[in-house]
Amino acid sequence: MIKAITGTKDILPGEIEKWQFLEKLVRNELENFNYNEIRTPIFEETALFSRGIGEATDIVSKEMYTFKDRSETSISLKPEMTASVVRAVLEHSLDKQFGLNKLYYISPMFRQERPQAGRLRQFHQFGAEALGSMHPALDAEMILICYRIFKILGLKNVSVKINSLGVPESRENYKKILREYLSDKIKDLSEDSKKRYETNILRIFDSKDERDSEIMKNAPLLIEYLDNVSLEHFEKVKQILLAAQVPFEVDPVLVRGLDYYTNTTFEILSGSVGSQSALCGGGRYDLLSEQLGGRKIPGVGFAAGMERILLACQNEGILQLPETCIDVYVVRIDKELENETAAFGNLLRERNLKVEFDYQSRSVKAQMREANRLNSINVIMFGGEEYQRGSAVLKNMKNGEQQEVNLSDIDSLINKLK
Ligand code: AMP
Repeated sequence: MIKAITGTKDILPGEIEKWQFLEKLVRNELENFNYNEIRTPIFEETALFSRGIGEATDIVSKEMYTFKDRSETSISLKPEMTASVVRAVLEHSLDKQFGLNKLYYISPMFRQERPQAGRLRQFHQFGAEALGSMHPALDAEMILICYRIFKILGLKNVSVKINSLGVPESRENYKKILREYLSDKIKDLSEDSKKRYETNILRIFDSKDERDSEIMKNAPLLIEYLDNVSLEHFEKVKQILLAAQVPFEVDPVLVRGLDYYTNTTFEILSGSVGSQSALCGGGRYDLLSEQLGGRKIPGVGFAAGMERILLACQNEGILQLPETCIDVYVVRIDKELENETAAFGNLLRERNLKVEFDYQSRSVKAQMREANRLNSINVIMFGGEEYQRGSAVLKNMKNGEQQEVNLSDIDSLINKLK
């Protein structure tokens, strides 16, 4: 038997309703904030991600699904959307058409990570990107959107963490200071962090290794070395969040795994999902478009993991959706009326009712059982004497009431069913 690939999941009926609910909520919220949907291809040239996200990041160096296609072009399945959105904006000159582009997406992403609860190889993110403005109000808006969505869902155990990475100059300067601090401690770092020391030193802060944490406890912090412009920007973001009544905490070691961030970074964590606790993350990336070879377009965005959000909802016992039901089950009483029953059922479907009937020539009793299993609100008995008279018996399954309805007066029947 061929099975689904490790780290991928089928989303089956029974669970899909939660996804649809979340997707609808996300669309509604993002559209209220005036973001427009964008869809980009599932795969891109590998260079887009290696240039955009950074060669030294875990995503690019270890996690991407990369392969050569038949024309020997290196292709990667998208591990995230920001680079793709920026590419699309540049490619279609959206920045020239509109000063500010506010875009959102809902899409599967692909990373070859070690699967565990809340970590998959094909997972789904929704996210937003605002391109064309450096205003701190947009940084705060990203956090506010996520916070609102979690609040509407009813998630209780969430905390917002924010930090600023400043501009590359102050960051480079700080990296030197950090390198100096660590220079006589390298031998005590974990093997992974020894590598990070060379390639991506800020990521040592993300290490879960106790030896690393001990060493990093006393490390100098980037926020202490920020330039004034970055500090002022950060201050404004905080003030806007306070005014919007979004509770947050400044986390000076929140560096995030992607290279392209400048200034604000943030994450919203859940205490209800175990070790993979980040529900969403984002930040500002004013230099990304140039890194991709394009014009300068400042931007800010976030991505939220839908599996983790649904897991948090499940663990907090929220998002109990009502059982699914159908409007009408048409029970065929007379065997020879198979075609007429189907035609009648389809007529009701055309009138926008959710309708089911039997496809297996089953007995009346079995059809009634099926109507119950489907939680049908109404049953129409099609056949018998009533049919000869041009009518049928309508039974309301909730209160058991029955009435004879005239089949030629479809409008009045529809009214009874709605
Ligand atoms: P990132 O793009 O790494 O900042 O991730 C943004 C969000 O996507 C995270 O906060 C997670 O909620 C989610 N996420 C990232 N990687 C995975 C994964 N492998 N499986 C499930 N969700 C993920």
